[in-house]
Amino acid sequence: MLQDRFGRTIDYVRLSVTDRCDFRCVYCMAEDMTFVPRAQVLTLEEMERLARVLVELGVRRIRLTGGEPLVRRDVAQLVRDIGAISGLDELNMTTNGAGLVRYADELKAGGLDRINVSLDSLNPDRFRQLTRTGDLAKVLAGIEAAREAGFRRIKLNSVILRGRNHDEVPALVDFALERGLDISFIEEMPLGQITEHDRGLEFVSSAELRDDLSTRLNLVPLAEKTGGPSRYWQVPGSDSRIGFISPHSQNFCELCNRVRVTAEGRMLLCLGHEHSVDLRAVLRAHPDDDAPLRDAIIGAMAIKPERHDFSLDPGEQLVRFMNMTGG
Ligand code: SAM
Ligand code: SF4
Repeated sequence: MLQDRFGRTIDYVRLSVTDRCDFRCVYCMAEDMTFVPRAQVLTLEEMERLARVLVELGVRRIRLTGGEPLVRRDVAQLVRDIGAISGLDELNMTTNGAGLVRYADELKAGGLDRINVSLDSLNPDRFRQLTRTGDLAKVLAGIEAAREAGFRRIKLNSVILRGRNHDEVPALVDFALERGLDISFIEEMPLGQITEHDRGLEFVSSAELRDDLSTRLNLVPLAEKTGGPSRYWQVPGSDSRIGFISPHSQNFCELCNRVRVTAEGRMLLCLGHEHSVDLRAVLRAHPDDDAPLRDAIIGAMAIKPERHDFSLDPGEQLVRFMNMTGG
C-alpha cells in the first residue's frame, strides 16, 4: 500500500497520456503553446509498465487524462493494455469529447469503465470562444456515442467563469438531468500564466452556484463521500448527481487519495505544488528491473505536501499549465 507521511493511502492515479490537445480552452492553455517533444513522452510500453507497477503497489483506480487523451494515436491500445492489468478496479478517462464518435465503442470494448466529458457551454459560438477551436456539435455527438456504446454514469465537467458561462449553469444541469448524466461544476484553478482573462475577476465560488441553483431545484446533499474533491447533491426523482469541485473555497486535502503522472513521466504529488519525482529516468535506466521504479514511487510519498494553497494573486500562480498536469 502507498502511504504518505500524513497517513493518507494513495490508491488513485491520474495519468496524463499526452500534453497535446485539439482545443485551447481559455482557462487551461495559452493560445500559442509549446508542447513536449515526442521522445520525452512516455511510450505505450512505459505507460503500461508504470501502470502495472502502480497497481502492484496498491493503486486501484487510474484515470487517463491530458492534454486530450484521444489525440494520442495509440490511445485505444493503451486502454486495452492498462484495462487488462489484474488488480485494477477502475480505468476511467477525462476527455473533451471531440474524439468520442470515433473511439467510444473501441474504448468500451478495451475495458474503459467510465468517461468524464468537459462541457462548458451549450451555445456553439460561446463554446468556440471558450475552447478557441472546439466544435460543440462534435462534442454533443461524442456524448451520444458514449451513451450508445454503453458507458454508464458519464459525468460532465464544467468550469464556470463569471460573465462567460455563469448564466448557463441551469441549462447545463437540465441537459445532464434529461440524459441521466452526472455533472460537476469546477472552480477555476490558477494553473499557468494566461493572459486572456483575469482569473480573480471571473472566479465564481461553488457556494454561489449552489445557492443560485437551489432557487429553482430541490438540491438534496448526498452523504456518500467519494474520496475526491467533489461534493454531490441530487434532485429527488432523478438519478443524476450534481457535484461541485471547490479547490478554493473548500479544503479537501485531508482526504486526498491521489497523485498525478505527467506525459513525461513526472509524478506530481499535489496539483498545487511543484513537488515531483522523475519516473521516466528510472523507467529508462532500468528497463528490465521494476525494483528501482517501485522504490522511486514509494519514496515519492515522502514529499507529498499536506495541502495545496491556491492563490488568485497573479504573482503567486503556478507556472505549470493544466494540460501539463493532467487535470
Ligand atoms: N482534455 C480533457 C478535458 O478537457 O476533459 C482532459 C484534460 S483537462 C486538463 C481536465 C479537466 O481540467 C477539464 O475538465 C478541464 O475543464 C479542467 N481544467 C483545465 N484547466 C483548468 C483550470 N485552470 N481550472 C480548473 N479546471 C481546469
Ligand atoms: Fe484541451 Fe482539456 Fe485543456 Fe481544454 S481543458 S485545452 S480540452 S486539455
